[in-house]
Amino acid sequence: MINIKNLTKKFGNNTILNNINGEVKKGQVICIIGPSGAGKSTFLRCLNQLEKPTSGSVEVEGTELTNLNEKEVQKVREKMGMVFQSFNLFPNKTVLENVKLAPKKVKKISDKDATAIAQQLLAEVGMGEKADAYPASLSGGQQQRVAISRALAMRPDVMLFDEPTSALDPEMVGEVLKVMQQLANDGMTMVVVTHEMGFAKNVADQIWFMADAGIQEKASPEDFFAHPQTARAKEFLQKIL
Ligand code: ATP
Ligand code: MG
Repeated sequence: MINIKNLTKKFGNNTILNNINGEVKKGQVICIIGPSGAGKSTFLRCLNQLEKPTSGSVEVEGTELTNLNEKEVQKVREKMGMVFQSFNLFPNKTVLENVKLAPKKVKKISDKDATAIAQQLLAEVGMGEKADAYPASLSGGQQQRVAISRALAMRPDVMLFDEPTSALDPEMVGEVLKVMQQLANDGMTMVVVTHEMGFAKNVADQIWFMADAGIQEKASPEDFFAHPQTARAKEFLQKIL
């Protein structure tokens, strides 16, 4: 589904991503873990071209993205949902309006159909009761579940998550991870940058360990957590586990 070849990203003279290769298959859950500053967010943003790679290629379902113009990129991006650490909901719109906005605006779906889709998605993340609430009245965990619904409303083929639980109070982390786990069980293709090692262990098909501008290890969670191969990964795991 996603093919990454020799991906390099520089900001000025700083090489943030150095010649990265990887493949995300349909239905796979990839968890990207690694120290702060490793380039995880930059990598994720290169996948949907929120960041323009300096060189190399990103192919999504056979379409090479790096040569596309902004309009064409926009089309591809519709198929790639993204959820950020900060939920970024529209504060002046209700939960329901937040979720149905893109399908209406971008896909030109009728208000009635968009409402039905949004209500269904909100129900699935346990937010059906809050459809008419405004984001400011919700907890962080609730807002993030709405943000996930909003991304899903575009019926994406793949979901990109950038530390979706890092901004949450500990007691709200679980409810968001549960929604993500359900999504994975339903077969969604997912690339998840996370510090939640329990989630990575239980849900990932593959761990990509990033450090020093590159993917240092790709392994099954079982192998990665039990037998990290590089000194860098061993050091990282010792610090966090
Ligand atoms: P964290 O775990 O803290 O979120 P990360 O692995 O996501 O870290 P990135 O945010 O991708 O790391 O940043 C990697 C490096 O790239 C950092 O040194 C950062 O300062 C640099 N960087 C990121 N975005 C820009 C930018 N727009 N301009 C210049 N440098 C940038
Ligand atoms: Mg980051």
